Amino acid sequence: MKNLSRRTFLEKVGVAVGASALAATIPSFTNTNVYEGRKLNIALCGLGRYAGYLAEGLQESKYCKLAGIVTGTPAKAEKWQKQYNIPEKNIYNYQNFDEIVNNKDIDLVYVVLPNALHKEYVIRAAKANKHVIVEKPMAVTAKDCQEMIDACKKAGVQLAMGYRLHFEPYHIELKRLGQEKVFGQVRLIEVSLGYKLGAENPKDWHYVKALSGGGSLMNLGVYCVQASRYVLGEEPISVTAQFMPVTNKSLFSEVEESITWQLVFPSGAVCTSTSAYNCGIDRFFATADDGFFELNPAVSYGPFKGRTSKSELNFPDINQQATQCDEIGKVLLINKQLPSHITGEEGLKDMKVLEAIYKAANTGKKVSII
Ligand code: NAD
Repeated sequence: MKNLSRRTFLEKVGVAVGASALAATIPSFTNTNVYEGRKLNIALCGLGRYAGYLAEGLQESKYCKLAGIVTGTPAKAEKWQKQYNIPEKNIYNYQNFDEIVNNKDIDLVYVVLPNALHKEYVIRAAKANKHVIVEKPMAVTAKDCQEMIDACKKAGVQLAMGYRLHFEPYHIELKRLGQEKVFGQVRLIEVSLGYKLGAENPKDWHYVKALSGGGSLMNLGVYCVQASRYVLGEEPISVTAQFMPVTNKSLFSEVEESITWQLVFPSGAVCTSTSAYNCGIDRFFATADDGFFELNPAVSYGPFKGRTSKSELNFPDINQQATQCDEIGKVLLINKQLPSHITGEEGLKDMKVLEAIYKAANTGKKVSII
């Protein structure tokens, strides 16, 4: 943001740059354009592996600050309090979490819990009048997603998805290349994501359907569904899908280890994907009437590498978590509406597709998506 003028910044976030529009809530800058205004104070709810990445991202964030934590483990509370200088009054556990309603120092709760707990904590945060960011997948059913959206609307707070790639330069370019038909109409996308989920912790919640809602599709496949939707700028109309053979039966008795699916879009474009917990894959490829574009790696935390049929793609390697929080924070700080591609409605659309993929794999039939 250092090189972004105040005018450019305000225009970017959609504020009319007239004297009357410059409310006291607008972030302020010194004359060197370094942001010195109030930051959006975030409480992380659930201090597991990914919360660690977010905490590090928040140290680099310009508009957001790690101001509070919610954890069920006193030892973690103590460690995080010291490490990130978190005031005692901003530390909650899952029992006293609702008291956060009285804490003016917290603007937003970022829910980073196992998938099946997202709904409860998003709704409790909304009832406490806090904006919310929820990690992917948004919940474990489309019905739950709708209830979360409704609760946030009712409370008058905003609900954002933790979709880090929406603000990542390579993905912004994929979206442009596809939606603006730079190489003509995209005909086929192949995007897959997989890694080996080992036996180090057989009790890991990812293997437990009641906590994860499903296997590799819920955790990794959601990125592939997202990418196909935003590169094409279309909603899929039907899907066929197949569970792949289970190679580790002791770990994968409740949720799928790997699954492959084929989405059909209104333009006739097709996207084929696999999400897997038994092999490594992380790539995106799109072929269009007049060329192709690809990323490999494509979905992880980067650095990404990509090219088109014409040239290499070269964009900066960013801190995805810091950038995502900043882009959301900038909007919330000036009380504007979040862009629709990052709201709960977007998470709901993905969940409807995930449910259709499961239905197709379970029935062996083509499933229409409404
Ligand atoms: P994790 O297992 O490392 O952390 C989960 C946290 O939830 C732990 O601190 C655990 O103590 C806590 N918890 C509270 N109640 C629990 C319960 N009943 N059972 C199990 N744990 C409970 O998981 P994670 O990898 O940090 O994933 C958390 C969320 O973040 C998931 O929704 C996941 O999909 C998402 N995630 C997103 C990204 C991304 O790149 N955006 C990456 C990883 C994970």
